Amino acid sequence: MKQIYLDYSATTPVKPEVLDAMLPYFTEFYGNPSSLYDLSYPSKDAIAEARGQVAGLINCDPSELFFTSCGSESDNWVLFGVADAQRKKGGHIITTSIEHHAILHTGDFQRKHGLDVTYLPVDEEGFITPEVLEAAIRPDTVLISVMYVNNEVGTVQNIKKLAEIAHAHGITFHTDAVQALGNVNCDVKELGVDLMSMSAHKIYGPKGVGALYIKKGTRISNYLHGGAQESKHRAGTENVPGIVGFGKAAALANEHFAEHVQHSSSLRDYFVERVLTEIPHTYLNGSREHRHPGNANITFEYIEGESILLMLNHYGISVSTGSACSSASLTPSHVLSAMGIPAEIIHGTIRFTVGDMTTKEDLDYTVDRLKEIVAKLREISAVSEEKGW
Ligand SMILES: *Cc1c(COP(=O)(O)O)cnc(C)c1O
Repeated sequence: MKQIYLDYSATTPVKPEVLDAMLPYFTEFYGNPSSLYDLSYPSKDAIAEARGQVAGLINCDPSELFFTSCGSESDNWVLFGVADAQRKKGGHIITTSIEHHAILHTGDFQRKHGLDVTYLPVDEEGFITPEVLEAAIRPDTVLISVMYVNNEVGTVQNIKKLAEIAHAHGITFHTDAVQALGNVNCDVKELGVDLMSMSAHKIYGPKGVGALYIKKGTRISNYLHGGAQESKHRAGTENVPGIVGFGKAAALANEHFAEHVQHSSSLRDYFVERVLTEIPHTYLNGSREHRHPGNANITFEYIEGESILLMLNHYGISVSTGSACSSASLTPSHVLSAMGIPAEIIHGTIRFTVGDMTTKEDLDYTVDRLKEIVAKLREISAVSEEKGW
């Protein structure tokens, strides 16, 4: 059966060039980069090259870029590391109610251990307004962490503005840019952020490797303790093939940025247009203007998103309901809830995310199947209502 993948925000396939770059570091150049003999040099050099490639994508100095095991580790490092390094100043962290669980659940954990965490509300399109942020700042606030691009609805925050507010109060500013990398401008100097989390597997790189940008001079403690890797800031023998793959993926993302954004956004717009005009009682959640180029988060009124997902899966089409992490549970998406969308409507919501390998034919096939599925499900629900089930 034909497989149609429309879940690029959950993960992406590794590009062939990325895999090719990685392979020699499993079998041929397997030396530990910390060792002192010749076999270790190719590994060491490869990490340096990858660091330059990722740094190039976000316009930082390579010495400000630290590899981690994933985006989640980078987020944990920030929350624990800043709270520790700045605890004399206070124990208050500001983040948002629409963050990825890597931030939300870390904040919840810190709350249980004596820190005070504020989760900012968002407006109906998922934006944190400057006024809302400003009002939450206290003398003991040590960190403000606001995600750049939301993984469910694709809303792109005005990070530059929010970072300015943080800095006007002398507060460290972090952004989780995992969904932003390769999709919107992630130039850290233009954004003015102190810390930024990234992950390779959302940009056609391998799973299990991430990075944290730490602006020179930022007060943050180490999170993973042990050996002297990553200039003594992050212990653990480096995932050399993974890091090489991340570097290659970042270089490709940098080189093909405009092309990628154009491809994704034109296909996404085509898909949204067809769904909203050809299927009644549907609408797009989030912002039209400030949005991830590949994201279409669509509500199908009067039906269950889970049922649509399962029926699409039957046709080989992969999508997600709200967020991949909450799809196994029946609690409505925390992001859509925070945007003020009622629970029964959230249950009829599907996230479609397109990427580099998506074609117009994939989307035509998906819309055609969706039309049949939605008609069928609505018929069943109408019948059940009539019969009083
Ligand atoms: C995927 C994702 C993460 C987690 O990254 P991993 O590398 O999978 O741990 C964090 N934040 C956002 C916004 C994400 O989309």
